[in-house]
Amino acid sequence: MTQADVATPKRTRDIIAKYGFSFKKSLGQNFLIDQNILRNIVDAAELDKTKGALEIGPGIGALTQRLSETAGRVTAVEIDQRLIPILQDVFAETDNVHIEHGDVLKLELRELMERQFAGLAGVSVVANLPYYVTTPILMKLLEEKLPLENIVVMIQKEVAERMAAKPGGKEYGSLSVAVQYYCVPELVCVVPHTVFIPQPNVDSAVIKLTLRDKPPVEVANEDHFFRTVQASFAQRRKTIANNLSAFIGKANRDKVVPLLEGCGIDPSRRGETLSIAEFAVISDALQQAGF
Ligand code: SAM
Repeated sequence: MTQADVATPKRTRDIIAKYGFSFKKSLGQNFLIDQNILRNIVDAAELDKTKGALEIGPGIGALTQRLSETAGRVTAVEIDQRLIPILQDVFAETDNVHIEHGDVLKLELRELMERQFAGLAGVSVVANLPYYVTTPILMKLLEEKLPLENIVVMIQKEVAERMAAKPGGKEYGSLSVAVQYYCVPELVCVVPHTVFIPQPNVDSAVIKLTLRDKPPVEVANEDHFFRTVQASFAQRRKTIANNLSAFIGKANRDKVVPLLEGCGIDPSRRGETLSIAEFAVISDALQQAGF
């Protein structure tokens, strides 16, 4: 790579000054300025020249630049129109980077991937995500069952901990179950807020989500399974019996306790103690009983 690194405090400030760029807090614009963290993110994705990287929110291209050095092809989706000419300028001499202007939540990602990554051996999503839409973006990637090998993202530390949480703690909730149904999560590193311009007021972490070939449990109906999980955490301090009573309707309250006992689950337990396998058993039993 002949280009100077984009991700140094000086170069970042130079680019911002050159283009008269001003940060939009509403778009979660906190740009990375630390080469070591960028290296850690890219290394975690295990890319090589036979693989592609889909980046969400390239900003001024710090991570994009590293990805272009490692992956065969990079497609970066940026919502902010003001950044498009900057990115086109920064990557004018780089032939394996495609910049796509758009809102990742509205784009047809499967079609974009087919168009951009045809013939490559695998694709990773690698990003320093805008924190205001982290969960919707990740859930879109997972629920659309895109053909991804892994997802390596910088997100708010607290959200990363919830995604990786095991049953029994206060971090464990419907987000943990949803993420772990599709992936194996691994916390890569915790990141201080000093490595961003401007500095966010929350701690960050890099999380790696390795997509599973198939879910860890078989459920009769995925949509029902996720609704059961949501309902079980509706009021965290209530028992599973109480939360599920609200889910199936007051008229059927008396059926919940025997149904849970029939599944071998103590009705006085709380949602946060239940494993994915136990949620699957409950969801299937509810469905069989007509709920
Ligand atoms: N990748 C750059 C870096 O690490 O320095 C910038 C990361 S910054 C945390 C998030 C980026 O996501 C910003 O460039 C922002 O404009 C962009 N963004 C915000 N919402 C988006 C959306 N819905 N779709 C695509 N990009 C988005």
